[in-house]
Amino acid sequence: MTATDLFIDNEWRAGGDGTFDVVDPATGRTIRPVSDGSEADAVAAVDAAAAALTTWRRVAPRERGEILRRTFELMIRDRDELGELIAAENGKSLTDAKGEVTYSAEFFRWYAEEGVRMGGDYGVAPAGGTRTLVTHHPVGVAALVTPWNFPAAMATRKIAPALAAGCTVVLKPAAETPLTAFAIARLMVEAGLPEGVVNIVPASSASKVVTRWMEDPRVRKISFTGSTGIGSVLLKQAADRIVNSSMELGGNAPLIVTDDADLDAAVEGTMIAKFRGGGQACTAANRLYVHADVVEEFAAKLGAKVASLKVGPAADGSDIGPLINAKAVDKTSKLLAGALEAGARVTHEASVPSDHADGFWFAPTVLVDVPADAEIVHEEIFGPIAPIVSWTTDEEVIGYANDTEMGLAAYVFTGDLQRGIRLGEAIEAGMVGVNRGLVSDPAAPFGGMKQSGIGREGARMGLEEFQETQYLSIAWPD
Ligand code: NAP
Repeated sequence: MTATDLFIDNEWRAGGDGTFDVVDPATGRTIRPVSDGSEADAVAAVDAAAAALTTWRRVAPRERGEILRRTFELMIRDRDELGELIAAENGKSLTDAKGEVTYSAEFFRWYAEEGVRMGGDYGVAPAGGTRTLVTHHPVGVAALVTPWNFPAAMATRKIAPALAAGCTVVLKPAAETPLTAFAIARLMVEAGLPEGVVNIVPASSASKVVTRWMEDPRVRKISFTGSTGIGSVLLKQAADRIVNSSMELGGNAPLIVTDDADLDAAVEGTMIAKFRGGGQACTAANRLYVHADVVEEFAAKLGAKVASLKVGPAADGSDIGPLINAKAVDKTSKLLAGALEAGARVTHEASVPSDHADGFWFAPTVLVDVPADAEIVHEEIFGPIAPIVSWTTDEEVIGYANDTEMGLAAYVFTGDLQRGIRLGEAIEAGMVGVNRGLVSDPAAPFGGMKQSGIGREGARMGLEEFQETQYLSIAWPD
């Protein structure tokens, strides 16, 4: 079977390096082969994006916005179908997958609106005699590289602001989940996308395509979402040509429950913060810090919820699906074994399906008595384990929360809002949910401190990541 999945210049083409397989993580079986982009394909994508840039950057913001707005509407129209596709290639539950479709579509709506409000500035020099006219311009051809855990949202969170700013893009989706990106491209064509504005090159080996882009002088921007390790590799490559870089990297979110928290609400929030997408979100609560006075009750309530989770393929109406691949199961199992060796105890566990032995399953698990220095609270688990550490003073828990090089998300559950704000402001994280287990919102600046990233996606700032600022200093006789 010849796959024709490279999307270049609004054409579907075969990849120069044959095909690779996209696998259903619930069964371990191939969904279908996908074109494997070559270095020449990577160059062809930039050729198309560079040619389209000359026109696209001058298209009226409203006209660009209409294409984004129509894409939003088409994604909502096809929400069920897109959700099923995400669930098939990523493994997450249908509820999570359809929720992702709505969230991803919202970036098109948000930037359709934001893109027509691109102001500038006009100033009078303090000494007089000069006027300063500040304007914002598209940075140019942008290379976008996305992970598998949110196959739609990680792509739309970049494509929508890039296009609203007047940039054209070349996208390499994760090898595990390229099918959703293709589906979004089809909808964009239906919405009126001009040729060459969005180009997609899947590849079995990311570096052959992305390194080529990083070396290409026509590529002026790298916007990456993925692990901190690969982010560091790309930043080193970006340094060679001083490429404008936005990095959405790994997390290690603390979730704090104070002694005065509404424990039922805290458990509800924790189920979302920890178990959405099987714990494979960059914002996933990685470590639960629960006040010693309520730790037993909290663990019992959380454990009861976790034990009742229906684990299985999305098509069976499950709450939680498999992990993405065998490597992820191996890593999560090792972290669990290490925690048990360090003295932690399993209090509750969900059952994994015995009739789907070939999938990449891992039982959602609650751990108590986890030592504060255990590896499992310092590594990004990226799986459905909830390790609970207890604490007694606010100073102690702030110390625990900040004892990491990561700083993406954090959560605080408390009955005292002022205490929540005080704790939230003391935590070195770009996003803090206060009495909420979800922080993502297209209208808010998503991103991390420390090694969790550089730059923000969503909100006004997400658009600015794809812009250059210029000023004209104008002689002005006063
Ligand atoms: P990853 O291994 O870093 O991969 C992310 C993307 O980079 C994929 O498209 C991957 O391609 C590509 N890639 C891999 N090696 C590369 C190289 N040498 N040069 C250029 N590109 C390369 O991350 P992942 O395992 O897919 O995703 C999980 C990580 O992403 C976690 O750490 C998570 O916290 C983070 N994440 C962060 C955010 C955020 O907004 N901060 C959001 C989601 C996920 P292949 O698929 O072909 O390997």
